[in-house]
This record gives sequence, C-alpha cells and structure tokens, in this order.
Amino acid sequence: MKVLLIEYTSPLAVIKATAMPYQSKESIDVVSRVWNSGHRSIARHGMASFLVEGVSQSLLRQLSRHPHINLTVKSSRFCNMDEVNNAVPPFISLTDRFEYNDDYETIMKIYHKWSEKDGYNNREQRNELAKLMLPLGSTTDLVLSGNYQALYEFLQLRLCERAEWEIRQLANRLKYILSEIMPVIFKELNCKGNELGYCPEIHGSCGKHMVKQKVG
Ligand SMILES: Cc1cc2nc3c(=O)[nH]c(=O)nc-3n(C[C@H](O)[C@H](O)[C@H](O)COP(=O)(O)OP(=O)(O)OC[C@H]3O[C@@H](n4cnc5c(N)ncnc54)[C@H](O)[C@@H]3O)c2cc1C
Repeated sequence: MKVLLIEYTSPLAVIKATAMPYQSKESIDVVSRVWNSGHRSIARHGMASFLVEGVSQSLLRQLSRHPHINLTVKSSRFCNMDEVNNAVPPFISLTDRFEYNDDYETIMKIYHKWSEKDGYNNREQRNELAKLMLPLGSTTDLVLSGNYQALYEFLQLRLCERAEWEIRQLANRLKYILSEIMPVIFKELNCKGNELGYCPEIHGSCGKHMVKQKVG
C-alpha cells in the first residue's frame, strides 16, 4: 500500500473560521480550544486529498461505508487488471504465504481468460466480463479526499483495534500525514474510545477502555 498526500488546505482557513465568530485573536490556540469544546464544523474549512495505491477491493467496500469520504477509483472496465497484486494479510504464516499467492494466481488466470475471450468484438465488453471474476483481494488505486472533520471521524472508527488490518493500516498512514499538516486537530487522534472515555464496541472490545455498559 502506498499513500501519498496530493494537496491540502493550510491551517489558515480553519484558524480564520474559528476566530471570526467572536472576533478572537487568530491563533492555533483558539482552534485548539474550540475544537476540543466539540465545535467540529470549523474543521470543514480544511481538506486533504491523497493518492492511495495497492489497496484491496475489500478495503474499497469498507471505504464506501463512509459517506463523507470522497473516492475516485481506477476503472476496472477501462483498465487492464491483469497485472494487479493481491493484498496479503500480515498475519498469514510463512508456510501458507506461497499457497495463498498461488491460489490468487489461479483465480487471476480466470480473469485473464475472460479478458481475452473470443466472440466479443471490443475490449470494453471483454473487460466487463472479466472484471466480475476479480477476487476481493485484488488491488486497485484511488484518490481519497475529505474535509478535516470527515477525515477525523473516519479515522476514529478505523483506528479501532476491531477494524480490519488493511483499513487500519491505511488509517494509521493517513493519521501520520494529517498529524504533520494539521497537528492541532490530528495529533491526539486515536480510536473513538479515547475521546469517549469508554469503548463503544460492545462485542469484541480490545480492552483498552471499559465497554459502555460496565462504565454505567
Ligand atoms: C470495526 C468495524 C466493523 C464494521 N463492520 C461493518 C459490516 O460488517 N458491515 C457494514 O455494512 N458496515 C460495517 N462497518 C461500518 C459501520 O457500520 C459504519 O457504516 C461506518 O463505520 C461509518 O460510520 P458513521 O456513518 O458513523 O461514520 P461516518 O461515515 O464517518 O460519518 C460521520 C458522522 O456523520 C453522520 N452521518 C453520516 N452519514 C449520515 C447520514 N446519511 N445521515 C445523517 N447523518 C450522517 C453521523 O453522525 C456519523 O457518525 C464497520 C465499521 C467498523 C469500524
């Protein structure tokens, strides 16, 4: 997985929007105070865009659950997906890794067969047939963007230990970059439990925070 920052709004837009309502002095401190009081809409004045390469179709499905995150994805209809790699969970044992990749190659042979199928006179139709054979582990590229509030709320959910390894890996990379460019909002960002003081995940909590019912 590669994550590259394409463009971002400097903190200035957020600072101005935060200071203006009460004619406060424009500063990072005022942003920190207002943000930590829960007035999150100030963060909607800033935005960041990323190029994300080599993430699975499975991760793409998970991203689709976040309506405030903007996505533009490589077209499997107009691009040849023959050469794409597969996502490999880091916990797979060394002994199984070879078999795992081998099985992926077997599935991709089916993709290749349909992408070259006789009887269809254009590449588009062959790709439309073949792309439906792609496994969820096959990788794709996308541009991901969002305003700082949307990114913050997305990351809170996906930094959670319960989130799957790949989207958590993406969330960690995004968080690292965002902490550099907008530390006042992202530096302390962690899972939702950190902010709430309890874990909202009733099933399968990682134990870092008490679950809600136990807190009372
Ligand atoms: C560990 C984990 C496992 C999951 N498993 C599954 C699964 O198996 N299947 C599945 O389908 N999803 C799954 N999800 C996705 C989950 O159900 C949510 O859809 C996703 O986390 C986005 O949550 P959200 O809408 O609260 O947050 P965001 O999309 O980040 O939105 C932020 C906030 O905006 C507001 N908002 C967003 N959309 C609307 C809207 N349309 N109307 C009004 N307010 C809105 C809400 O206040 C929301 O909390 C999983 C998520 C996690 C973290």
